[in-house]
Amino acid sequence: MNNVELHPANEPMLQRLPAKLTELGTGMMIRRALPNRQKRMIGAWCFLDHAGPMDIGNGEGMRVGPHPHTGLQTFTWMIEGEVLHRDSLGFEQVIRPNQVNLMTAGRGISHSEESPAQHSSRLQLAQFWIALPNEHRYCQPAFQHYPDLPVILQDGFRVTLLVGEALGERAPTEVYTPLVAMDFTANEAATTQLSLNPDFEYGVLVLEGEAVVMGEILTAGVLLDLGIGRTELNMQSTGATRLLLIGGEPFKEDILLWWNFVARTQDEVIEYTRLWNAGEHFGGVKGFQGERLIAPTLPEGVKVHS
Ligand code: MN
Repeated sequence: MNNVELHPANEPMLQRLPAKLTELGTGMMIRRALPNRQKRMIGAWCFLDHAGPMDIGNGEGMRVGPHPHTGLQTFTWMIEGEVLHRDSLGFEQVIRPNQVNLMTAGRGISHSEESPAQHSSRLQLAQFWIALPNEHRYCQPAFQHYPDLPVILQDGFRVTLLVGEALGERAPTEVYTPLVAMDFTANEAATTQLSLNPDFEYGVLVLEGEAVVMGEILTAGVLLDLGIGRTELNMQSTGATRLLLIGGEPFKEDILLWWNFVARTQDEVIEYTRLWNAGEHFGGVKGFQGERLIAPTLPEGVKVHS
């Protein structure tokens, strides 16, 4: 797919895309902003989930049993609470607020995610997927935990650089196509501007509070698609607000996204599904108390399209 979208008058795209409420694991409702009927990807970002903020008290919280991934990186940005990650490489990592986990699935990995037994009563995180380009999508799987990201204070915003380069800083997170991701947090009304790369497409996702971005009033549950060709972004918080800005070079390949797999063809998806459900190829996750997830098989004759 080609995400170069310009309005007829050559004005950059500006559209509001509602997130879908979706169930993650057992009973946990999350907002899914991508993929969207009007928009499949922003750069290599192909899947945007926002969980919480929610009160999980002493309860089970998040609980997603072992499942596989291919052809992507899962990017987790922890905002409130903790999540315990376990994977088939043997990594066992608790992620805490202001930290990033980046799992590179490559040719195939499996993992589980759960609230640890001892956990905070609050939970909030963003989990995004990054599609891997062809030359890297069969790479060896990897997992990286980033406890420290660059922080810049600007015009009343605390800006954390999660991916890429901006404001004179460079994030340590390792990605395979030109991308950026930034968290903007304000405790009160604030106004700022940011230079953008006109070769990138961008989107803004408000997580908490209210912001005005390029004149659009945004709250949680809406992704503002900013398109490509912009050199500057104006944003305002009207009070305590947190938002994420993501962007990247338009992804040049057609991807096929099915369940937890990013692939290119239906045959690949069918094969990954078969391998996972047969207990092959994706290794095992040790220590998770519960069942592994079963991949839904494609109904006979159904074609999935990129
Ligand atoms: Mn996963």
